[in-house]
Amino acid sequence: MTSARTGSQTAPKPNPYYPIGQLQCETDTGIETVPLREEVAFGSWQSAIPERYWDMDTGELSRRIRSARETLGEDVVILGHHYQREDIIQFADDRGDSFALAQFAAERPESKYIVFCGVHFMAEAADILSADHQAVILPNIEAGCSMADMAAAPDVYTAWRELEDLFGSTEDIIPVTYMNSAASLKAFCGEHGGVVCTSSNATKVLEWAFERGKRVFFFPDQHLGRNTGHKMDIPLDEMVLWDWRQPAGNLGGRTPEELERSRIILWQGHCSVHQRFSVTQIEAARERYPDVKVVVHPECRFDVVQAADANGSTSYIAKYVADAPAGAVIAVGTEINLVSRLAKEHPDKTIFGLDPVVCPCSTMYRVHPAYLAWVMESLLDGQVVNRIDVPAEQKVHAKVALERMLALR
Ligand code: SF4
Repeated sequence: MTSARTGSQTAPKPNPYYPIGQLQCETDTGIETVPLREEVAFGSWQSAIPERYWDMDTGELSRRIRSARETLGEDVVILGHHYQREDIIQFADDRGDSFALAQFAAERPESKYIVFCGVHFMAEAADILSADHQAVILPNIEAGCSMADMAAAPDVYTAWRELEDLFGSTEDIIPVTYMNSAASLKAFCGEHGGVVCTSSNATKVLEWAFERGKRVFFFPDQHLGRNTGHKMDIPLDEMVLWDWRQPAGNLGGRTPEELERSRIILWQGHCSVHQRFSVTQIEAARERYPDVKVVVHPECRFDVVQAADANGSTSYIAKYVADAPAGAVIAVGTEINLVSRLAKEHPDKTIFGLDPVVCPCSTMYRVHPAYLAWVMESLLDGQVVNRIDVPAEQKVHAKVALERMLALR
């Protein structure tokens, strides 16, 4: 099993302003919590947090969070994504994937405050689905998602206009955005006859889309789009990649013929965490444990998903591990905090991460308990900090796209 914080006992304390670019991984010393000031990447996180929180250790932060929570009672609900660290997830009233958490938020109208321990697009989805009297709070405002950031709204609008010019109309193109995208893109899909999908329902959503159009414009994760299209027997050469870095007017680097032939136009985005997994790692796991089963997330590359025994969302992976018989050996290709938790929860099985480097999602990792303590204690003082407030017009259209997805369940 991957060990946490290898060699941390003797390692010098890192400088909080150490340039991230020089590290192999933002948290390459492990996944255990150290005081905020000692976090390697703190210099690039939200710095507007009172300095008194910077040196508090995990024990003190936990006591403060617990105490604030007791006082706030039902006024607050804490939601935690599967990829959050243990020192956060222990406080989660509900934990799950991004979509399940947004639904939990919608089902808790009694809570005035929803503290979302996840990343920005997830807190936005919770704000879209929750009631107006509820405030959604993201503990560290810098907790974004590198994949979501790869699809900037102006680039998507430009691509859409280019497709419209090429085909004469976009009537036959259904835009589908992965949950991991900004609210503005969910709204774009809502306005243009499109829909949102998650890694659990992508096949069902694409079936819905192909009942309404000839081709799908899928963003931001090319891998989820390709892996899902392949499951639906769409040939690889009918799924073309739109390179958003190309100059405007360049059809994302594709020829008109390639686009004419395409059934899915895939945005050139990816998850930096899941892109680390490789077929070589799977081969190494199989060499070491001949009976190993390999389960990966569909945000992994096509060749990795093909080489694995199974693939699915974080909820699918958790169930896959839970359902395996005692003594099973399972290599998991997803974020390390979830893998470590599954290993702890199933001591009768050998569960380990495919990637030998301990590298959590660096943006999920930004939700350090110091931020959670700060936002909770601010609520005690009557202050709502780091509120996520999706503009009203975006909310209306984004909700349409989300509700189209919900109707498919
Ligand atoms: S694991 Fe990947 S997709 Fe998920 S929040 Fe992190 S960067 Fe984004």
